Amino acid sequence: QAPVIAIDGPSGAGKGTVSQLVAEKLGWHLLDSGALYRLLALAVSHHGMTADDVESLRVLAEHLDIQFEQGDEGKVDIVLEGEIVTQAIRTELVGNSASKLAQIPEVRDGLLMRQRAFSQEPGLVADGRDMGTVVFPDAPVKVFLTATAEERASRRLLQLQQKGDEVDYDELVATIKERDDRDANRAVAPLVPAAGALVVDSTDLTIDKVVEMVLAEVKK
Ligand code: C5P
Repeated sequence: QAPVIAIDGPSGAGKGTVSQLVAEKLGWHLLDSGALYRLLALAVSHHGMTADDVESLRVLAEHLDIQFEQGDEGKVDIVLEGEIVTQAIRTELVGNSASKLAQIPEVRDGLLMRQRAFSQEPGLVADGRDMGTVVFPDAPVKVFLTATAEERASRRLLQLQQKGDEVDYDELVATIKERDDRDANRAVAPLVPAAGALVVDSTDLTIDKVVEMVLAEVKK
């Protein structure tokens, strides 16, 4: 198995950007595991499925038709069942449905092997909630990246405003806390730092500083 850098933490802590930059610097593969949960959520809604048929959810998770295609300017297009959904999976609504589905053990199980398949030479940077605890427990480098809910809401607000979306800051803080709460308190793979993980609070750190800290862990 190729080496893995597991980067876990709550939404909006900067995992996505940090993981992407670290992967670029090292020339390693990247796994955005949250995208898989989001893709599943979108597929479930497209197929009009309900969350109580857990065996069908497992089968869908195992066989979900997903492609990560190289698009323009180094961007990656995410394709679900033949349709580009790169933007469509990024809404708060899809994020929330993803976090509800993520509570179901059969769903996590169905996605497990698909996530492990990303671990290929020369190495993988894996971004998620349970990369260091469940999916890649033997990862030589584990990082738990966090920030206050208020800081994460401000960052998200900026992103949404840049897209031209109108959102209320207080509502955003409330949604983020609700999702954190669900992710941290669920029965399967709750969001906790893996044993031996470097815990980084990014509230007052720049992205570059965090990337530097992760790369320093790799060199150790
Ligand atoms: O990271 P992102 O916000 O895209 O993830 C969406 C949701 O998917 C999270 O709120 C979480 O509930 C779930 N998830 C998970 N395990 C992962 C990645 C994401 O449970 N490894």
